[in-house]
Amino acid sequence: MSAFFVHKEAVTQWIRHLARSNTVYFPQRAGQSGFRFKPVKETTEIQFDRYQPTLAPPGKKLAPAEEPLFRYRKQGDAAPELVPILDQSPRILAGVRPCDLKGIHLMDRANREGHGDPHYLTRRTHTILIAHDCLQPCDDSCFCDAVGSLGWRDNADLFLTSLEDHILIEVRTGPGETLIQGMNFPVCTDVAAVKSRAEAQRAQPFGRQFHADLARIPAIIASQWQAPVWEKQVERCFSCGSCNLVCPTCYCFDVHDDFDLTDPNAGQRTRTWDGCMLPQFAEVAGGHNFRPNPAARQRHRVKRKFEYLTERFAEGSFCTGCGRCGRQCTTDIDIFNIVNDLIDHAEANS
Ligand code: SF4
Ligand code: SF4
Repeated sequence: MSAFFVHKEAVTQWIRHLARSNTVYFPQRAGQSGFRFKPVKETTEIQFDRYQPTLAPPGKKLAPAEEPLFRYRKQGDAAPELVPILDQSPRILAGVRPCDLKGIHLMDRANREGHGDPHYLTRRTHTILIAHDCLQPCDDSCFCDAVGSLGWRDNADLFLTSLEDHILIEVRTGPGETLIQGMNFPVCTDVAAVKSRAEAQRAQPFGRQFHADLARIPAIIASQWQAPVWEKQVERCFSCGSCNLVCPTCYCFDVHDDFDLTDPNAGQRTRTWDGCMLPQFAEVAGGHNFRPNPAARQRHRVKRKFEYLTERFAEGSFCTGCGRCGRQCTTDIDIFNIVNDLIDHAEANS
């Protein structure tokens, strides 16, 4: 596929140009507290270098917090008629960092499993991804390199790498190519040399690292069901569920039906995000709760990311190392520290 080496100002103009005829999301400052993926407007500041992690990952644009699934109507004894509600509006997610690119890949896999989720997959089909490399860790919370997300490229339609006042644009798919058409960008004649210069600027080591190889972590966590680490790590937990809400690979949801008050035979089913750290998450009919205390819920969350889903999908880790859960937790509970504590406890007791 082709590659171009383009001055940053021209890339900024290109993103604005795309936004005139497409919905383009790009990380932008939102209030005092951080960045969010918001639609690009004519006045939007397109900033490639001073990246700060967004509150929510870009993949949440493919699975909104609340969405209608279908409308239904029942007539007589016939089976109810179901009319699915599918969002076919096109969008471009630009400025997606490697950890979040991998997060979207993991959500693609989870949502394609079995019968597949038509609501997610319809949005995904109509979404183009413009990713951007990280040469420095975004802050002290991330650990993307430790879980193998830093080098993730696979599902990018276009992959951008900043090098001083230029950006290398690598075209990876046909839809990516269509976004470049007509721009007359200068072709990059030596992609390997540009990449090598960028690689020389990448921080080493890149952010936080685990105390054990990633490949060993699922087995270590599986051996630590009774470890005191679980209780110790949730002493401060409020069970607020913020860690679930900001995670690029959390996808649990609840559903409810709204009856049409003017027609009792018709209505709509809607789903909303749910989260395994919330106290009611594992409560079933009759009032029994399978995970009534925070330590059991934290154990379940960590095992989903580093053991259950990691083994089911064989993707190295179902945590992308984005650091959002630790960053957003009001009491500084950090999944990276939990995993390292479990590794230390396992090695001390082996
Ligand atoms: S964000 Fe922190 S306090 Fe809230 S549920 Fe998660 S670990 Fe507990
Ligand atoms: S568990 Fe935490 S660090 Fe891992 S992907 Fe989810 S939010 Fe990011």
